[in-house]
Amino acid sequence: MNRTGSGCTEALLPEGREKPAGQPLWLLAELTYKCPLQCPYCSNPLDFARHGEELTTDQWIRVLREARELGAAQLGFSGGEPLTRPDLVDLIREARQLGYYSNLITSGIGLTERKVADFREAGLDHIQVSFQASDEEVNNMLAGSAKAFAQKLKMAREVKAQGYPMVLNFVTHRHNIDRIDRIIELCIELEADYVELATCQYYGWAYENRAELLPTRAQLERAERITNEYRERLAAAGNPIRLIFVTPDYYEERPKGCMNGWGQIFLTVTPDGTALPCHSARQLPVEFPSVKQQSLGDIWYRSFGFNHFRGDDWMKEPCRSCDEKEKDFGGCRCQAYMMTGDAANADPVCSKSPHHDLIVQAREAAENPAGTGFTYRNERNSRVFCRG
Ligand code: SF4
Ligand code: SF4
Repeated sequence: MNRTGSGCTEALLPEGREKPAGQPLWLLAELTYKCPLQCPYCSNPLDFARHGEELTTDQWIRVLREARELGAAQLGFSGGEPLTRPDLVDLIREARQLGYYSNLITSGIGLTERKVADFREAGLDHIQVSFQASDEEVNNMLAGSAKAFAQKLKMAREVKAQGYPMVLNFVTHRHNIDRIDRIIELCIELEADYVELATCQYYGWAYENRAELLPTRAQLERAERITNEYRERLAAAGNPIRLIFVTPDYYEERPKGCMNGWGQIFLTVTPDGTALPCHSARQLPVEFPSVKQQSLGDIWYRSFGFNHFRGDDWMKEPCRSCDEKEKDFGGCRCQAYMMTGDAANADPVCSKSPHHDLIVQAREAAENPAGTGFTYRNERNSRVFCRG
């Protein structure tokens, strides 16, 4: 089977073969894989350099319209760095006219005072600015850019000054998690409304760099304790800032209920128009459809890719007979594929999985990291992966 759906002319399922599906309430529009930064934990595919031409403005507008007709209400403009698209303001305007609640997910690089104002005028609801760390040196080392931190600070202040609700996102890992107190202090200083302290999830470039990124259990527990202490202090002081601490499933015994179920509420469209049930699914050996060739309605309800892991008839043991399968759907298909080579296996995070030892080994390796250095997410390294 094709690794990706780009360029495919995939047949739809025969009448009556589609499985029960919800509405695609969330649309993630990955506008581009271009990005000025090089984060080693980026969730973009390793081989992003091979993927075809970006959708045009008209094609994106059609995607926004069709998704809205299917029930999508939340829209994230993401990438890569969505600010590299010159038509971003037009897409925001269209989103507003269609009635979406829209969110710009950005590194802040390329943002200006003028753009913040233009986006507001066009109807953008929300901006999420990501930081790599609270310290300039570490931030810039991880971003692969000497100017990144200063620009992010400036733009976070600008976003607030222009009256947006603001999310600050910090992907945490072994190189920055011990400074969680400083991260939270910075977010308080910047008057963030929400702070995502998102422990790195190991997909894409993050999986490639896992040995450098995975924190130890002790680091994680300390960070969670400090976050809880801040929550109490902030609440007592009447500060409305919300701290969201996302734990990595590598330290759990049960997997997450990935994407609330395959093809149930999340829809991602990649820069070249491939439609996916989650932003990591492109790596699976499943044929995914393209919005260049099919309507989103056909894709969502009747394509092979979106029906493949719906329901539970694809499950193997131990999931098939497990009384928790309604809760976690067997975990993450991408994690099962990356770690066991079979996307229909139980997510190895689960302690009932016969592959759970792979997670235990990764935890043990985090106690004594080899210090191999990072493979940065950039075009040159991606071309190396493309060559295999
Ligand atoms: S994670 Fe970093 S490299 Fe990846 S798209 Fe975001 S800013 Fe760019
Ligand atoms: S065996 Fe499968 S369904 Fe049961 S808890 Fe583990 S991952 Fe979930």
